[in-house]
Amino acid sequence: MIHYDIHTIRADFPILKTKVNGHPLVYLDNGATTQKPLTVIKAITDYYTQINSNVHRGVHHLSQLATDAYEVTRKKVKEYLNAANEYEIILTNGTTHSINLVATCYGKQFVNEGDEIIISAMEHHSNIVPWQMLCEERKAKLKVIPINDLGELDMDAYRSLLNERVKLVAVTYVSNTLGTLNPIKEIIDLAHHYAVPVLVDAAQAIQHLSIDVQALDVDFLAFSGHKMYGPTGVGVLFGKEKWLEQMPPYQGGGDMIKEVTFEKTTYNELPFKFEAGTPNIEAGICLGTAIDYIDTIGLNNIALYEAELLKYAIKQLREIEELRFIGEAKERCSVLSFLIKDVHPYDVGVILDKLGVAVRTGHHCTQPLMDRFGIPGTVRASIAMYNTKEDIDRLVAAVKKATSMLL
Ligand code: PMP
Repeated sequence: MIHYDIHTIRADFPILKTKVNGHPLVYLDNGATTQKPLTVIKAITDYYTQINSNVHRGVHHLSQLATDAYEVTRKKVKEYLNAANEYEIILTNGTTHSINLVATCYGKQFVNEGDEIIISAMEHHSNIVPWQMLCEERKAKLKVIPINDLGELDMDAYRSLLNERVKLVAVTYVSNTLGTLNPIKEIIDLAHHYAVPVLVDAAQAIQHLSIDVQALDVDFLAFSGHKMYGPTGVGVLFGKEKWLEQMPPYQGGGDMIKEVTFEKTTYNELPFKFEAGTPNIEAGICLGTAIDYIDTIGLNNIALYEAELLKYAIKQLREIEELRFIGEAKERCSVLSFLIKDVHPYDVGVILDKLGVAVRTGHHCTQPLMDRFGIPGTVRASIAMYNTKEDIDRLVAAVKKATSMLL
């Protein structure tokens, strides 16, 4: 194990001291949402006790403080992603909002009858349905990159799907169900060969690995604050200036305008053109606090630590004969999914919960992926920076117990 002060980190997350059914909580549902460190929790109350006010529109003291704090987050996100410009960072409600924004606004401008959009077989519903809606509206076609039995993208199939009719590729960086870490740079480079922009769903990547949007040359990148130790209700859309400038606004309202008359409205500059109405100010500010927290631990340290834990978990679970992994990609990140013979995942989840182990069960908002494997769902454990070997041991013991009870 690398040097990593796990005791100090765990002490920063008070909820981890919770007891569930008499057992200390083992929280392995981090893919759904992560827990929040004390600094973030404190920043939420600090906001309401010290600077609560609306942003971007007041000359008074509090409004300026709130605006400054909110805009500091934009700067921190820019640094976190190594984006070239702050105005390429749009603050949204979350990944879903960010993807819908691109589907709607990019779609209006660039997608027409007969055009094609490429997604993959392992996408979250958030990165399927907005494109389906767009394709239906514009009479475009949705094409799907297939996967192999290990849960890896078929890159040859992807190459053969690319052509001049394709208007956008939208793929996930890390699968929330299988944990597959996709070759995102290669995906982007291949698409750019045809001058096709790429949207990356980074909801399951942003908290685990360092992302440099300039090095990747990615066109759009979407993620949520609540999966990276920040509050719910805030997310990010990174978009390259050249695309954002050409796209029409998403919603109309306050903040996104320059001037309004009944005859004509002119729109605000980036990023405000895409930020209509009062945002979730508190969440926005505290996303910045979450980024600070990650930075103090170091994303590279987190990545190394989590990779070792994942390896340990896979090795331990592999010893349970009745267990079948769903998704065994060579390149993995944080997430592992499995079934115990034909037992319904829900039944396993209930027993694990009785033993204090929190995992996710079900289709994980990836129903087409479940169909691909011919299963109703999986049991999913997902690792975060504060998990330990003891957590994994408790998971393995609970799965063994569930196996003996259910078979
Ligand atoms: N994409 C992926 C890969 C996800 O894991 C999730 C959340 N489970 C989403 C999109 C949607 O995120 P949100 O609900 O925060 O908008």
